[in-house]
Amino acid sequence: MTTEVFPAVNHIPTKGLPEGPQCTPKFYVVPVFIPHAGCPHRCIYCDQRGITGRSKPPTPKDVHAEINLFLNHCRQDRGFTEISFFGGNFLGLPPKLIGDYLKVAEGFVAKGLVNGIRFSTRPDTITPENLRLVGGYHATTVELGVQSMNDRVLHLSERGHTAADTRHAVGLLKNRGVQIGLQLMVGLPGDEPALAMASARELADMHPDFVRIYPTLVLAQSPLAKQYHNGTYNPMDLNACVDVTADMVRVFAASGVRIVRMGLQASEELNRDTHVLAGPFHPAFGHLVWSKLFLDAVKTALSTMGRVPTDLEIGVHPADISKMRGIKNHNISELRRSGFERILVSPSPVLDNHHISIQGRIYPVIQPFPGSAF
Ligand code: SF4
Repeated sequence: MTTEVFPAVNHIPTKGLPEGPQCTPKFYVVPVFIPHAGCPHRCIYCDQRGITGRSKPPTPKDVHAEINLFLNHCRQDRGFTEISFFGGNFLGLPPKLIGDYLKVAEGFVAKGLVNGIRFSTRPDTITPENLRLVGGYHATTVELGVQSMNDRVLHLSERGHTAADTRHAVGLLKNRGVQIGLQLMVGLPGDEPALAMASARELADMHPDFVRIYPTLVLAQSPLAKQYHNGTYNPMDLNACVDVTADMVRVFAASGVRIVRMGLQASEELNRDTHVLAGPFHPAFGHLVWSKLFLDAVKTALSTMGRVPTDLEIGVHPADISKMRGIKNHNISELRRSGFERILVSPSPVLDNHHISIQGRIYPVIQPFPGSAF
């Protein structure tokens, strides 16, 4: 799963705008899967083939045909569009193939059909030579599979690079006119909440343009599956993973860093029955995290009140109703256990997203920050 990896066909190239679907009037990503291409080895948790359902990387000719097909089937008013190479280690490919892929993509830029090129790559592939290699093309976004800033966790996850490589890579990418996206994982071998949070804090201090947070899942064909079967790896519990991710949201929010994805995308290829053996998988992981943040905000608000009412009315922006209620009304049930006789979540169009109001007072769900999608 992950890293140099994740497709995420739903990221956003400019600050201050909310996460959205792949095909929106404003932003668009044309995905090109290059599963495990350029990878020096297999990281312990990774199974790109299982995730993407593709067994080998496409030829440049295939890429050309795929992009054409994709563009022919999407809306014309799609706004900022990037061709995105993901699922492998882009800058680990042979230089000739990197050039051939980029030339194909650049052809679509030259015709005005797309605005730029995005690729995912390992931090240890960001070198002055490689940046020179891609420098002649419209590379607009680079995503780094960071995963952790703890060297022991990186070692146990068989990443083959260190936290210093990430620091160096981000330093080289800064001020080059490309958007920097960093991917972080929770629950890797040797990881624990305090270490994951330390990684999040360090990434937030780097002020990337966006981050993605992925829970570590045990995928059937990944090397981690063996450790899971022989009992040497215990995946993180879903609730614990949601809690840590919610704390990470607070950290990134405080630094003004957008989070464009939390959790893996459920797909026909990735589902619990076929590929996910164990781990904190939920098809609406991001929603769980938001629900946790809303519940915490209500509890915090109540804790500041001198006299807690018996009936609780919570106002939220109409778009936030389901986040406040939680999946299957989890938050309502949880608040009921606190003794409220009646709980009402009402839409309040005058409230901003990610704010709640109780008894006429407004509380932010997380620290507000400028330019945030939240
Ligand atoms: S570098 Fe590792 S995590 Fe990234 S695609 Fe290759 S094997 Fe998977």
